[in-house]
Amino acid sequence: MFETQILNFCQSKHYKGIMPRAALIDMDGTLYDSMGNHARAWHRMITELGIEATPEEFYLYEGRTGASTINILFQRAYGRDATPDEVKELYHRKTVYFSELPAVKPMPGALELMNLFKDMGIIRVLVTGSGQRTLIDRLEADFPGIFTPELMICGNDVIHGKPHPEPFIKAMQRARVSPSAAIAVENAPLGVESACRAGAFPVAVTTGPIPVKCFEDAGAGIIFSSMPEAARQMPVLLLDMLTTRLES
Ligand code: CA
Repeated sequence: MFETQILNFCQSKHYKGIMPRAALIDMDGTLYDSMGNHARAWHRMITELGIEATPEEFYLYEGRTGASTINILFQRAYGRDATPDEVKELYHRKTVYFSELPAVKPMPGALELMNLFKDMGIIRVLVTGSGQRTLIDRLEADFPGIFTPELMICGNDVIHGKPHPEPFIKAMQRARVSPSAAIAVENAPLGVESACRAGAFPVAVTTGPIPVKCFEDAGAGIIFSSMPEAARQMPVLLLDMLTTRLES
């Protein structure tokens, strides 16, 4: 059913096939329905500085580190990057505003998908640009037995955030798998781009307002319209990966 998409990706990466051994999982917008709150918190913090911004634009920065997002806005408003002290202070303020909003819920279907990976013996690695403990600390309660602290790549673990490939490269190193043995689950175009550049097969899940075309352009191997759909189709996708090989 997904042979064509798998073969297209293998061709682009010069892989003979994909042997899925690790799943690299994004957090915001993938495991948690948190992007609305993030956008609101960013928008409040930035507009209080007197910088004009729309809440929607923060969906497009999704996946970037806090510093990277702040610098985009600083460059636009002041023509310079923020200083390290400014980044620290402003990201902290955004984090406080986020924590004041109503608690976010796990994305429907996310637990089913994570349990499926676990039951199939697939290693799970969290790959998030976030440094916010609010959600990271909830993972064990909401997704019991899925993640371990050593298999998490967070905003503070990387120099370059998504769309740079570093977060996913580090995740694969931690899991000790090669790129042709990894799939990534992502809801943001920058995350899909990061995974694709790292060589992991990007499964895009469109849980927000961003059009499908943006995910295609970012290099998505396959696009699902929701996490429940991703959970439903994943067994077929994984099976197809095991049986699909590029003829050489
Ligand atoms: Ca995300």
